[in-house]
Amino acid sequence: MTARIIDGKAFAAALRQRIKTRVTDLKARTGETPGLAVVLVGEDPASQVYVRNKGQQTREVGMNSFEHRLPAETLEAELLALIAKLNDDPAVHGILVQLPLPRHMDEQKVIAAIDPKKDVDGFHVVNAGLLATGGQGLVPCTPWGCLMLLKDTLGDLTGLKAVVVGRSNIVGKPMAQLLVRESCTVTIAHSKTRDLAAECRQADILVAAVGRPEMIRGDWIKPGATVIDVGINRIPAEDGKTRLVGDVCFTEARQVAGAITPVPGGVGPMTIACLLDNTLTAADRIIAAAKY
Ligand code: NDP
Repeated sequence: MTARIIDGKAFAAALRQRIKTRVTDLKARTGETPGLAVVLVGEDPASQVYVRNKGQQTREVGMNSFEHRLPAETLEAELLALIAKLNDDPAVHGILVQLPLPRHMDEQKVIAAIDPKKDVDGFHVVNAGLLATGGQGLVPCTPWGCLMLLKDTLGDLTGLKAVVVGRSNIVGKPMAQLLVRESCTVTIAHSKTRDLAAECRQADILVAAVGRPEMIRGDWIKPGATVIDVGINRIPAEDGKTRLVGDVCFTEARQVAGAITPVPGGVGPMTIACLLDNTLTAADRIIAAAKY
């Protein structure tokens, strides 16, 4: 069997198109434009690229993009003061603080300062709690994108056995919560799991969010399973340059799986598209709440 390739790039492009239409509609109905504020502290090159891409895609769907670039030596109190200002700004419906922050800042304290209604990364404990208890919060973008790809590939997920490898607060745990919400039977595996390969072999849905290049081999995969590879790992290439690979050995896995996301071009493009989706959801809710 050769797996169907799940084209996250095409799915994300179609999602952005739908968001653009909804933004146009929201503007026509309310006269308001959704706005996303992105805060970058320091000069981390990867973060600068992410922030630039986020700003560009935000504008492309017709939303306002507000970028705040602060020097690495910014005091935590100054960042908290900026967040307080953005919380109160009616033109801002989503706030994203690009992580990682410089080491002298407490990330949890900074995330906790964001108004949960504007927390478009979905990392605030209020949003984590709402996800865990079945409430209507904002869901972390990467697992939200993975779920969209899964539903597009498989339709109804009810009763399927899912294994999520990785238990981070930004990917693994919220992914597992989302799959439970879809009535899957979910196992969360991590670095202390005994016989990880045997756990993975049980999975109809296997989500890998580990950060270890090609760790999951073809013979760990149940024939016909759907594999979502969240990992983004840069490894040396034969030509002396580097290349990106996932946490799953793609060449082996595609011989066994029913469907699989490639790296790059799978989950990666979904993350910013879901950030825009969350910003629009936040704007919808904030604008509606202000009217009644
Ligand atoms: P973290 O480092 O926060 O978490 C990694 C998880 O993997 C931990 O729970 C860890 O277990 C587990 N793990 C590590 N080694 C093993 C092992 N040998 N066997 C089993 N489990 C293991 O990473 P993130 O969740 O933030 O990210 C995971 C990957 O996804 C990374 O490659 C990252 O680059 C990528 N990523 C991609 C995004 C995208 O847009 N596509 C967005 C976010 C992340 P333990 O808890 O026991 O230490």
